[in-house]
Parts: sequence; C-alpha cells; structure tokens
Amino acid sequence: MKRAGYLAVLLCLALPAQAEWVRRVSDGIMGTRITVELWSDDKDKAEKAIDAVLDSMRFIDETMSTYKPTSEVSQVNAHAADGPMPITKELFDLLTAAHEYSVLTDGAFDITYASVGYLYDFRGHVRPSENQIAKALPAVNYRHVLLDPVKQTVQFTQKGVRIDLGGIAKGYSVDRGINVLKSLGVTRAYVSAGGDSRIIGDRFGKPWMVGIRDPAKGEGSVITRIPLVDAAISTSGDYERYFEEGGVRYHHIIDPHTGHSASKVRSATVIGPYAMRTDGLSKTAFVLGPEKAMEIYNRIEDIDAIIVKLDGTVIHSKGLEPAH
Ligand code: ADP
Ligand code: MG
Repeated sequence: MKRAGYLAVLLCLALPAQAEWVRRVSDGIMGTRITVELWSDDKDKAEKAIDAVLDSMRFIDETMSTYKPTSEVSQVNAHAADGPMPITKELFDLLTAAHEYSVLTDGAFDITYASVGYLYDFRGHVRPSENQIAKALPAVNYRHVLLDPVKQTVQFTQKGVRIDLGGIAKGYSVDRGINVLKSLGVTRAYVSAGGDSRIIGDRFGKPWMVGIRDPAKGEGSVITRIPLVDAAISTSGDYERYFEEGGVRYHHIIDPHTGHSASKVRSATVIGPYAMRTDGLSKTAFVLGPEKAMEIYNRIEDIDAIIVKLDGTVIHSKGLEPAH
C-alpha cells in the first residue's frame, strides 16, 4: 500500500495533472502571422505569457515600422542626413547587427536597400522606372550609415539614404518573444513570425519538426522537415510578397547593387542560434546566387543552410551532410 502511494506521488511530480501544450495563432502584427506554443501546467499563466509575447511584438512594430511616420526608424530616415542623431540603445544594437550582416554577406544584406525599396509597393503592384532606380541607387550602401557607439548616434553620409529593418525585424521580434517566455520560466516553446521561428527546449525527448515549404507548390506542402532543439530557423521565399508583370516576378528582396528584385534562388533557409541572425542571413542567397551564398554560409561558424535553386534542386551546407 505504502509503496503504491509513493509511486503515485512520483507520477504526479513527473506529469502535473493539467500540464498541456497551449497554442495561439494571431494575424496582423507586423503584417504577418504570429504563432506561439508552449508547455505549461497553468493555462491562465500560459495565456498571459502569450499576451506578453504579442505585446512585445506590437512594441517592435510601433518603433521599427517605416509605415508609421512616428516610429523611431521613420524619424531617423527623416533627419539622420542632417547630422548625428541620438537613438535608443535598442535601435543602435539593431543597426550594429545589420552592419555585421552586411559585412558577413559581402553587402547582399543591406538595410539601405530601402533607398530604392520604398519605390516599390508589392501589394499595389507598383514598381519604379529604370530612371527612378538609377537616381536612387547611389544612396544604397550600408557604408552610408555611420554609427558612433560612444555617443550612441546614427548619421547618414548623404541625402536620399533610407533604412528599413524589414529584413531582421521579424527575427528580432521572435528572439524578444523567446526572452519574454524564458523570463517567465517557460522551458519548452515555439515562437514564429512569418518565416522566422525559434524554439526553446524539445518535445519531451523528441525534437520539434519544422517544415520547409516547397516553393513550387502551395502553402502547406513541404520539401523537408528539420528536427530542431534550442534553435532558430528562417526561410525567405520569392512567393511571400510579389506580383508578376510581363512574365517577370517582382518580389520583396532587393539586390542592393541593381535595385531590382533579387531572383537567383527560389528559397533559402538558414538555421542558427538566434532568429535575428537567421532572418538577416536568409536573404543573401537571393542576391548572390546559390554557390556564392553557400560558400558564405559554410564560412559562418554558427549557421547551416538549405537552398532551393531555380531549377528546384536542393543544396545544403556542410553541417547538414549525413554522418558516415
Ligand atoms: P519576411 O519579411 O516575410 O520575413 P524575408 O525574411 O525574406 O521575408 O525578408 C524580406 C524583407 O527584407 C523585405 O520585405 C524587406 O523589408 C527586407 N529586404 C529586402 N531586400 C533586402 C536586402 N537586400 N537587405 C536587407 N533587407 C532586405
Ligand atoms: Mg524574415
């Protein structure tokens, strides 16, 4: 009798009666779909934790969006060409990370793409003329953004420079969401914003399985599933935001050297420790093409990558080769 009681207590300890996966999907913040899933033994607490994640994402949307004229980034775009401008530590750190990704990718990642990028409206099927692109293009260069870490200021070297953090904002918001959950004691969770996801913990001895969409097929079809524990994964695809005209697909990743859509691959997936990093690096392959991009991905210590080439073939980085 005594022994059975002891066992029952042990069982309760191992598996709290009400523990469950709590999941919420929310559309609208940052113009994308947010998914949060976590393991919790208290449903109320879990729902509050999810609220906190979504609040932190709304905050990022408010401060970083170029669609909102009052956002800090919009203020920088309006005034940073006039002289050094003090900015918050949060934005300064983001601009510092953006600079690092530009250096790592030989300039394929460049937040000043927006100096031309703002002339596109993919929803409205609007694109700039060759003449407009030629005029705006000299302002595209990450070296035009001067950062002073001592004074915590940003300055643009010339008029016409615009920045947009759309290439890292979702990844960053996922990292922030994960930090919120960690600070609340959550040890098993999944947070995603559009194509950027990060995971903490596993699913009780099993990895999380994250699907990579088949670019040739509709939503829900996957070319492969990647097992992940404590990792981030970002996929960029030419099917995300685009319109077609005269047989050409105009989509939301811009080649900083030409000002046109960068179309050298169908999709690129990067796996690494942080979602901001994987988000920033997933655009590279579109601009540089599969071979050059894979060379760079293989060179960067803490990441792996999977690229779907234009002909549909799939290549992956050295770290994903099967063990022999
Ligand atoms: P999503 O926005 O769905 O996460 P991506 O991760 O592929 O898609 O990021 C695309 C976004 O990156 C674009 O909408 C734009 O804001 C930004 N972007 C486009 N071209 C570049 C570039 N060359 N360098 C940095 N950011 C870019
Ligand atoms: Mg992204």
